[in-house]
Amino acid sequence: MSLLVVGSIAFDTVETPFGHAERVLGGSASYFSFAASFFTPVRVVGVVGTDFPQEWLALFRARQIDLQGLETREGKTFFWAGRYLGSMDACQTTAVELNVFSDYSPELPASYRDSRYIFLANGSPRMQKRVLEQLSSPRLVVCDTMNHWICDERDGLLDVLGQADGIVINEDEAVMLTGRSDAARAARDVLKLGPDFCIIKRGSQGSFLAAGDATFSLPACSEVKVVDPTGAGDSFAGGLMGYLANAGQVDFETLKAAMAVGTATASFAIEEFSLEGLKRAAYSAIEGRCQLLRKQAHL
Ligand code: AMP
Repeated sequence: MSLLVVGSIAFDTVETPFGHAERVLGGSASYFSFAASFFTPVRVVGVVGTDFPQEWLALFRARQIDLQGLETREGKTFFWAGRYLGSMDACQTTAVELNVFSDYSPELPASYRDSRYIFLANGSPRMQKRVLEQLSSPRLVVCDTMNHWICDERDGLLDVLGQADGIVINEDEAVMLTGRSDAARAARDVLKLGPDFCIIKRGSQGSFLAAGDATFSLPACSEVKVVDPTGAGDSFAGGLMGYLANAGQVDFETLKAAMAVGTATASFAIEEFSLEGLKRAAYSAIEGRCQLLRKQAHL
């Protein structure tokens, strides 16, 4: 089934206790589409500047990622810089230059309008809404967001949430959105805002799913050497949505299995800087970690 993502495509500069990467390929839509491409074909909606390297576009195409919805605009590509210290559970953003992403209003190619599975990755609620307006018959709409939009564009975000079937959100951000101090309560309050399910990403603590009155907790993959946590959330969402689009169903049991796939996929993203971990990962290796997780979680 057709899976569409809208989000950022970026130059990232990242510092962790294990090293430094300067102006490498990043962005929410990049991590998401690489991760999802293990499971299903992906359509990307996004924007880059004229400084974006052509050879990076070739990396997407080599994974059968459809770039018809990628616009190249006069100007510079979105730039983000961040630093992770100590246990790397928290990220300090040191620079953001929105550049061509700042007033981006996506125009979907005609061939994308029938997309059924939609992921609204991190970006402005206005951009997310603009995509929703152009879809003819979405089957599953899932969104992500971040602290900036929760604080500065809350109304727009609530509007998107009212139209979404699911949300995948960091624990800190779920707490910020609801004012609740723990994941279970925050998830319950997020459900009152519209989505049928809420998945809270808890970093090294794994992830938590709430839908109706049912809940489920999944640990993170153990024995993974984290080198750079950037993109963990987007890669988790990519694995999750790729699995759901391929399965063609979204009941609670399928969501639990999809969380295991998302977790296993993200575990490869964080073993190296930028997209290197995902580029090198083999489908069979993802499947291997997924099986371990399924055993641990009795799935
Ligand atoms: P994650 O670690 O999964 O939360 O996402 C990391 C990616 O998000 C990085 O590659 C950044 O380029 C991208 N990013 C950071 N800030 C923003 C923002 N304000 N809007 C969209 N993407 C962002």
